[in-house]
Amino acid sequence: AAKDEGKNSFHFFNDQMLIDISKALELESELQTALDNDQFCLFLQPKYCLESGVLDGFEALVRWRHPEKGLIMPNHFIPQMEQGEMIFQLGRWVISHGLNIIRGLERSGLGQFKLAVNLSARQFCDDKLVDHLSACLQDMPGDRLELEITENVLIHNSELAASVMKQANDLGVTVALDDFGTGYSSLSYLRQLPVDVIKLDRSFIAPTNESEESRHIVTSVIDLAHKLNKYVVAEGVETQEHLLFLKEHNCDSAQGFLLSRPIDEHELPDVLAKGDVQKKASNYLNADVL
Ligand code: C2E
Ligand code: MG
Ligand code: MG
Ligand code: MG
Repeated sequence: AAKDEGKNSFHFFNDQMLIDISKALELESELQTALDNDQFCLFLQPKYCLESGVLDGFEALVRWRHPEKGLIMPNHFIPQMEQGEMIFQLGRWVISHGLNIIRGLERSGLGQFKLAVNLSARQFCDDKLVDHLSACLQDMPGDRLELEITENVLIHNSELAASVMKQANDLGVTVALDDFGTGYSSLSYLRQLPVDVIKLDRSFIAPTNESEESRHIVTSVIDLAHKLNKYVVAEGVETQEHLLFLKEHNCDSAQGFLLSRPIDEHELPDVLAKGDVQKKASNYLNADVL
């Protein structure tokens, strides 16, 4: 009987699974080293006001500067970090480091900008989050920070998430619903959460040239958001046609490769000082050009 059990367990626990587990464990320990040794960095992607063409803020996007493998994108490590508590530490670092960058830009006279950070659903379970927010915002108005959350925050522990968001709101921090339209119950979230901003997912923006249906979805979401007193940001703006369409239909703000790719934090002061990102965007947003 013991021999049979051994055989069975061999079936359920094969070599490939052992390889996967050992890879996951290796990644986990590499990620902890990365946190301890400061291997993460931020890229900041500009957001522009569509009416004025003014650069009004940045979204912080995290990358892992791996000592051997180079720059690693967030989809390769965020999911693993979300399995445990490493995401708490990373998430707090993104907030404090991101705000330090914003502070540095202001001190250098390069402008006053708002920072948006992505928050994992798991981070609402971080009992240090709210204290961290208020500590990071001590010398700055709370509305310089925006939390981008996705619709899955309410799947687990929705009461906790709503209460954390309320406390963030009390600090002046704004909340954006990211990837809007891709989740399961987008509309009910709009009623349940203290949301200030809707970020229209780029999967709706991309087909607006070819598909009338997509155009209807985009314009209806913009109208709905405005009726609810919310601000709309379009993500993934890649062509001038996208931009023209969004501007025509009163979308408030836009972000995307056409206007600017995410910029390495170390290059940002130079890029801003040269005025390149502002010039390029205002060319596109100039009414004469459109
Ligand atoms: P997201 O929050 O929806 O971020 C937008 C993603 O779209 C970014 O990818 C950005 O580089 C990309 N993007 C921006 N403009 C365009 C465009 O015009 N076309 C296309 N095709 N893509 C565009 P990235 O940096 O790889 O980030 C992917 C996702 O990883 C983010 O999606 C966000 O969910 C997550 N993420 C990034 N940074 C953090 C973080 O600090 N914490 C957490 N929890 N998640 C993060
Ligand atoms: Mg985002
Ligand atoms: Mg998004
Ligand atoms: Mg998206």
